[in-house]
Amino acid sequence: MADLLRDEDRIFKNLYGLHDWKLDGARQRGAWEGTAAMLGQGRDWIIDQVKASGLRGRGGAGFPTGLKWSFMPKEVGNRPHYLVVNADESEPGTCKDREMMRHDPHLLIEGCLVASFAMQANACYIYLRGEYVLERNRLQAAIDEAYAAGLVGKNACGSGFDFDIYMHHGAGAYICGEETALLESLEGKKGQPRLKPPFPANAGLYGCPTTVNNVESIAVVPTILRKGADWFSSFGRDNNKGTKVFSISGHVNRPCNVEEAMSIPMKQLLEHHAGGVRGGWDNLKCVIPGGSSVPLLPKEICDTVLMDFDALREHQSGLGTAAVIVMDQSTDVVKAIARLSYFYKHESCGQCTPCREGTGWMWRVMERMVVGNAKTSEIDMLLDVTKQIEGHTICALGDAAAWPIQGLIRHFRPEIEERINLYRNDKPVFVQAAE
Ligand code: NAD
Ligand code: SF4
Repeated sequence: MADLLRDEDRIFKNLYGLHDWKLDGARQRGAWEGTAAMLGQGRDWIIDQVKASGLRGRGGAGFPTGLKWSFMPKEVGNRPHYLVVNADESEPGTCKDREMMRHDPHLLIEGCLVASFAMQANACYIYLRGEYVLERNRLQAAIDEAYAAGLVGKNACGSGFDFDIYMHHGAGAYICGEETALLESLEGKKGQPRLKPPFPANAGLYGCPTTVNNVESIAVVPTILRKGADWFSSFGRDNNKGTKVFSISGHVNRPCNVEEAMSIPMKQLLEHHAGGVRGGWDNLKCVIPGGSSVPLLPKEICDTVLMDFDALREHQSGLGTAAVIVMDQSTDVVKAIARLSYFYKHESCGQCTPCREGTGWMWRVMERMVVGNAKTSEIDMLLDVTKQIEGHTICALGDAAAWPIQGLIRHFRPEIEERINLYRNDKPVFVQAAE
């Protein structure tokens, strides 16, 4: 058992909306405290602190945040720099950024100022998922408060730095959460991913140097600078540092968002914070540990696995967005993964052939696998198709469509074979609806 995070070490002290989300309430919780002094330490100090904290991107990919910031050109020249906050949270199972923006918007706004200052970006855009209406209203109200208090705008916090912050609302496409599709959409174009390289730090918004960061990655920065890089890196283990907000859903007794130390054992996370698996731990069938794009893990692995980037990767899965989707023994896991296949087929932007054709192909085969109307040899053929899509597309959506199916075949092949045998022997196939 690991030590649980103490309340005083939680960054998001209003994650459940029990307190005032406005400026006065945020200030009482420590937001905007010493911001001018932080900026006074200089750009290099801020980036060095973020590097030293070990913070890795909280949007899913886990790229080191300080390193990403250091890719921005040192000189501004004639191309303005931009910070773009990816608040298009759409990964199935993920609802952490929503709570941060709804209940602690000032932490994000303060983070935007500090990060933009460090990267010499005088403008920041927050690209917000269109369905997040309450969050949009709160965030805009908080931005207005920050302008009125002189915290942002001309001479932000009295630092001499001019800083503007704008919100842009998405229109419901999952692909616009991919950073380059997001930039296209922000520019008023169809949201389709760009080829990388060039990465946004070289050619981002309007072709200018841009850093795209997730909401949580930005919102934790002011607290890291206030409490120190050593404080943040004292949680978790090497290469997997800090605190992290987990979204726990599915067959648990108390679905929730919770901030915990990185590397907490999955079993402890679920039992302590989510009231355990419905019907007890032995009733667990499998868990998708990091949002729908990462492969599921069967109970035997969940018994001991740690919730961090490296431990989950060792088991051919990933931390992703840290959205933990729990499925108990009543789950039709083949049907659950077939439903995800439909999602990726529906959300593919259609730009590259392996993804456009492959996602539809995989979904149709998965639908047949659900009832067993397939040949056993098609399981390997399906696996082979996932391998041909993985790594052969412009953006990560192709991988995200392939990986859940790979996880299913890796861990639940006998369940698929059993259906095929039942179907071929003309026996009725019992398919329980996934909840
Ligand atoms: P990625 O690994 O391609 O990139 C991660 C970040 O690091 C990007 O900002 C990228 O520009 C930067 N980067 C990577 N290599 C670089 C290099 N050599 N030089 C400069 N910068 C570099 O991953 P991605 O496609 O941005 O994200 C994929 C992840 O997104 C998935 O694993 C999934 O978990 C997650 N995801 C999240 C959501 C959500 O709602 N939060 C939705 C879908 C997917
Ligand atoms: Fe579009 Fe899919 Fe290609 Fe991404 S992988 S660019 S979503 S077709």
